[in-house]
Amino acid sequence: MESLKKKILTDGAIANDNVIKVDSFLNHQIDIDLLNEIGKEFKSRFLNERVDKILTIEASGIAIAVITAQYFNVPVVFAKKTESKNLDKETYESIVHSYTRNMTYTIKVSKKYINKGENILIIDDFLANGKAAEGLVDIVNQAGANLIGVGVVIEKGFQEGGKNIRKKGIRLESLAIINKVEDGKIIFK
Ligand code: 5GP
Repeated sequence: MESLKKKILTDGAIANDNVIKVDSFLNHQIDIDLLNEIGKEFKSRFLNERVDKILTIEASGIAIAVITAQYFNVPVVFAKKTESKNLDKETYESIVHSYTRNMTYTIKVSKKYINKGENILIIDDFLANGKAAEGLVDIVNQAGANLIGVGVVIEKGFQEGGKNIRKKGIRLESLAIINKVEDGKIIFK
């Protein structure tokens, strides 16, 4: 997606350990025009699929999933990372190691909101080592739902996530794939 790549080059930044900062348009302040284009692009990539629900993970996946869901006209469910008294007791759970935070946490989704036989599309902002996406796939499988695929805005092609997800036969659509970061410059595939 050319407009996204352009935005990453002009407004993105490189933090430590090859962490890409997109705070000015995706992760903190959000560029709604770009987000709308992202939603449309996911719709066109999964155009021929019947999607019943979009599943994402809090926090940065939510806005992307919501804008995408408008084009599919389906609800969004987001996995919770934090303990909450509001969360139902009956949950699907999976353990995820966070690359950016270097910690392990349990993601949870109420059993009410993912049902057996539903067609689920997973959406997230970044794919790095693929642990967040794998946790969501695990939850879809526990629920006996059908996984349509995984859509990510930015895939970091120099980490293992994309390879591992594709190896499992899961359809992965990445709107921008970063091949490497060299001399402080982002190089796309
Ligand atoms: P993974 O589980 O694939 O290793 O990492 C995916 C999650 O970590 C994403 O949901 C995203 O929030 C965060 N993440 C991973 N790499 C980056 C990065 O380079 N920049 C930002 N902003 N977030 C990242």
